[in-house]
Amino acid sequence: MTKWLQECDITYGLIIMYKNVYIRTFGCQMNVHDSEKIRGILQEEGYLLTDSPRTADLIIFNTCNIRQKAEQKFYSELGRTKSHKKKRPEIKILVAGCIAQHEGENIFKKASHVDFVFGPQNIHMLKGFLRNNKFFIATEDNPDIAVIDLPVERGDGLKAWVTIIYGCNNYCSYCVVPYTRGPERSRPSEYILSEVINLAYTGYKEITLLGQNVNSYRSNTDFSGLLRKLDTIEGIERIRFVTSHPKDLSDELIDTISDLPKVCEHIHLPLQSGSSNILKLMNRGYTYDDYLEKISSLRKKILNISITSDIIAGFPGETDKDHLLTMNALKEIQFDGIFAFKFSPRQYTRAAGMENQVPENIKSERLKEILRIQDNITERINKSLEGTVHEILVEGESKTDSSKLTGRTRTNKIVNIPKRDSCIGKLINVEIILGRKHSLKGKPV
Ligand code: SF4
Repeated sequence: MTKWLQECDITYGLIIMYKNVYIRTFGCQMNVHDSEKIRGILQEEGYLLTDSPRTADLIIFNTCNIRQKAEQKFYSELGRTKSHKKKRPEIKILVAGCIAQHEGENIFKKASHVDFVFGPQNIHMLKGFLRNNKFFIATEDNPDIAVIDLPVERGDGLKAWVTIIYGCNNYCSYCVVPYTRGPERSRPSEYILSEVINLAYTGYKEITLLGQNVNSYRSNTDFSGLLRKLDTIEGIERIRFVTSHPKDLSDELIDTISDLPKVCEHIHLPLQSGSSNILKLMNRGYTYDDYLEKISSLRKKILNISITSDIIAGFPGETDKDHLLTMNALKEIQFDGIFAFKFSPRQYTRAAGMENQVPENIKSERLKEILRIQDNITERINKSLEGTVHEILVEGESKTDSSKLTGRTRTNKIVNIPKRDSCIGKLINVEIILGRKHSLKGKPV
């Protein structure tokens, strides 16, 4: 059990009993960071974190509906909490995140043991619920989301997520995000700067700026301007950002990334398909050739940049020829890594109602082929790094091998090194001695 506070405090003869909360997070980094905000609020309200729903007084599901699989998993875990509630009717069950936003009141119909439903734009309402048990549903659009500062309880003292932009205006035809997270709203730069200055003050070395489309950030400065300001903050050694939309990646931004010493040489730039016809159906706003131009500009201006991407297999109307174009794109671009998924129809999105849906077995076959090609490319690139020296930020013990420490290069590759406790939290140079598909092995130099 992780504890923020002592189980019970005795102060001037007063006994304060703390309650336990179990938080289950599904989905992307935005959700992971939202759970850090939920934890921040709960910590202020005196809750302790427990790793089992059985010992919890409060159970929170922070949900994701980007794909059907995550949604099914959530409903089956929610179903299991029914028996806990039957045994202990005083426990509260809360559903947050994108499914909460999407389903709203329907959640109560599907699971009558749920007490409170709140969407990603209404995390601040949690405080009111905890204090009064008053709110039952909070899924309204929240135009103030960018100026509400919530406490954040981060698990790690080295690397921090920092939201710079909420929501999305792009309406890619397969995506639910604009419906669940609302329209794009940039957080004022002074809020972001003050958060990052505080993070530096408390010892954080790396920040990752978060947003569905960070490239379209705009408040009193644009994304390049924001990066320039953040680059001057003493104590912060590395700046990353995710996710970038290819259509908004300007030459000016590429120059800024190349100029600024703290901005890392890695970009996640979702391609989604190598076929311009499919990209059009996806409403992505660029052709395959446009995308190639951005890649060539990135590689020309930023030495040794690593590029990762997202690919969707079996989008409606995708023919064998379109699929072949995607596989050729992987061979041509040579990404450092990709996240690839089968197309999953999502309610309310245009793609869900499109004709020519691709049968499940063909989607699976195509996904397998895509992953096979990319695995070979990633392994080859990682092998080519053997003998080279890279700076890594040592994060701590490896999750898979306690005799090793783990860190990431500026290009976002995981490197495992022999354990030496004195390295944790430091930036050190390592020589890569072995390049594997999913990680690198290194030794300090
Ligand atoms: S850019 Fe497209 S895929 Fe990304 S969140 Fe917005 S709508 Fe979804």
